[in-house]
Amino acid sequence: VSVYGAPVIGRHGNWLGIIVVFHDITKLIRLEKVRKDFVANVSHELRTPITSIKGFTETLLDGAMSDELILKDFLTIIQKESDRLHLLVDDLLELSGIEQEGFDLNIRKVSLSSIIEDAKKIVSGAVEKKKMRIISEVDETAMILADSDRLIQVMVNVLTNAVNYSKEETTVRVGVSATMEGTTIVVEDEGIGIDKAELPRLFERFYRVDRARSRDSGGTGLGLAIVKHLIEAHGGTVKVESEKDIGTKFTFFFPERKM
Ligand code: ADP
Repeated sequence: VSVYGAPVIGRHGNWLGIIVVFHDITKLIRLEKVRKDFVANVSHELRTPITSIKGFTETLLDGAMSDELILKDFLTIIQKESDRLHLLVDDLLELSGIEQEGFDLNIRKVSLSSIIEDAKKIVSGAVEKKKMRIISEVDETAMILADSDRLIQVMVNVLTNAVNYSKEETTVRVGVSATMEGTTIVVEDEGIGIDKAELPRLFERFYRVDRARSRDSGGTGLGLAIVKHLIEAHGGTVKVESEKDIGTKFTFFFPERKM
């Protein structure tokens, strides 16, 4: 709490009393901490690949380059770390764009089945690699008022996670239902699940249950933060339920709007 006090003097210079203002700055301090944590996280996430790229390049220039096998090995690592940096910067720019005041969605009446099909196409490589399946049950005529590119992005982020955090040969189910109140999209996997205690922090920037696993699968730790922002920008809500070693279910709800 910040405290400010000042005497109140009457018209004739007489002492009337004192005004004390108590200002609750808990929220301000919390925001400042979130900002500082974010900067520290970004620096750490950027530094890790940069250190690796620098180290491997120096070793190559110091002579390791003459061995062709080592050369190829190190260049592959350098390429992978550069891809990681690229992805991270893209996600950071994306998130900061969404968070800007005046961020605008391009709202149109769009077909849900085509949005889900587009997202499935984008993740199809990863799905095939793990011999997984994505089954979607979507009414061809289901429509929604949304920014289609952004909604595809939401689906891609959630489907990518469903694939990354599942074992091979498992299934991901996407379902859509519409009522008078609004439209619900459900994405359910048979993956590793998430401990109940971790669920409340899941949508925080850079929060990961298992940092090593997330890094290995190419995750930036920003995917779900982006998802939450985009869903809320659409006036929607997102809910997650999970059971360890059973699977995870994300539910998006978009309240009905006039089309
Ligand atoms: P990341 O890039 O690490 O995947 P996200 O923001 O997309 O970052 O997700 C945050 C964390 O939530 C992940 O690191 C992972 O631990 C957990 N997570 C997200 N989706 C799932 C899922 N479907 N199953 C299990 N864990 C998940």
